[in-house]
Amino acid sequence: MWDVIVVGAGPAGTAASKRCAEYGLNTLLLEKRKLPRDKVCDGMVMGPVAHTLIKQEFGDIPKNILSKPYYLSGYMFHVPGIGSQKLDNLTPLAWRRDLDYWMNQKAQAKGVEIWQASRVTGLRLKEQGFSVEIEQDKQKSELEARFVVGADGATSIVRKFLFPELKVRYSQIYQECHQGELDLDKKYYHWFYPVEYAPLNFGAHHKGDFIIIDVGGGLGQIKQFLIWVKNFLAKNYNFDISQKPVWRGGCLEPVMYKQVTSYTFSPAKGNALLVGDAGCLPMPVSGEGISPGIKSGLLAADSIIRAIESGEQPDRIYLTKVEGIISVFKEIYPRFKGISEETKAGGHSLPEVLRDAYHSTLRMF
Ligand SMILES: Cc1cc2nc3c(=O)[nH]c(=O)nc-3n(C[C@H](O)[C@H](O)[C@H](O)COP(=O)(O)OP(=O)(O)OC[C@H]3O[C@@H](n4cnc5c(N)ncnc54)[C@H](O)[C@@H]3O)c2cc1C
Repeated sequence: MWDVIVVGAGPAGTAASKRCAEYGLNTLLLEKRKLPRDKVCDGMVMGPVAHTLIKQEFGDIPKNILSKPYYLSGYMFHVPGIGSQKLDNLTPLAWRRDLDYWMNQKAQAKGVEIWQASRVTGLRLKEQGFSVEIEQDKQKSELEARFVVGADGATSIVRKFLFPELKVRYSQIYQECHQGELDLDKKYYHWFYPVEYAPLNFGAHHKGDFIIIDVGGGLGQIKQFLIWVKNFLAKNYNFDISQKPVWRGGCLEPVMYKQVTSYTFSPAKGNALLVGDAGCLPMPVSGEGISPGIKSGLLAADSIIRAIESGEQPDRIYLTKVEGIISVFKEIYPRFKGISEETKAGGHSLPEVLRDAYHSTLRMF
């Protein structure tokens, strides 16, 4: 029997597993894909918490994991037809595939056993913990663990087994990577909010020799909006609309701030704890998920360790610890709502509202 099985080798699961192994727990990290794996993400290590946690837990990010311009100077918020605002904030720009793999290797060096290409397909409560069903090369088998950490991202299967009735709201984000350059300052991430398409919005930035375009919003509206976005970038910022993307991918993000801050959803049950996107913990406004992922992963590991030492319930300990993140959500959530209110009112102050909302996210997390 494993002491801890962590499901998902992203930042949240890697941080949780590393801390458990450092304490001496027999820890297995299961990842459904082959490693290193890609993740649809801009790779911005955004707030001060993200920098500090990565440095403290894993060391300085090696330069070969960063992509040019290595550090963004900050973010620009553009509301077409109204204006732009700038927010300076030094932000390392990483390739997620390499960043996550570097962290995986650090965890492995501390004693975490990593099984890649191992998909969790079932979870069953047992008297002494859990039975975890996995599939490897189309073969199913069962493992046992005292504690389970669900770090399996936005559409978490661990969350589905723990909370089968929960209705999760998602926003869909679609990303394209193109060769070339835009007539936009390369040192900034550019976030565009065209008022007439709200709540759809998009981002564009340079990464290495590429242009990255992120289009986000409600499910099912992205395709039409993307056509508008490309025409807009071609007209205003020299985007070559005839070229095909070198890479593209879609991703979901949970939008559960209301449920998390009102405690109608709490990311833990018994000996199973949910962290990062699986715990619905990406930040409101910025969508930043690396730092809340690492932070909640570490809190989950600390909760398991304290439960072992004290005999207390790990979910109770974790829900108290994770309150620090939820209280930040509570402060930021009204600003998130303020964006849609300002948009509905015509958006004349939207550049400032966006900058201030974003700034508060970075200041607090
Ligand atoms: C377009 C886009 C841009 C973003 N940009 C940023 C950014 O610049 N900065 C930032 O901080 N955040 C950003 N985010 C958010 C960030 O990517 C996520 O919040 C973050 O990756 C969450 O980390 P995690 O460890 O919780 O989950 P993930 O990184 O999603 O890792 C989950 C892992 O679990 C594995 N898994 C899933 N199911 C199973 C299973 N059944 N069995 C085993 N393994 C499984 C997956 O393969 C994956 O490796 C962005 C998100 C999107 C969509």
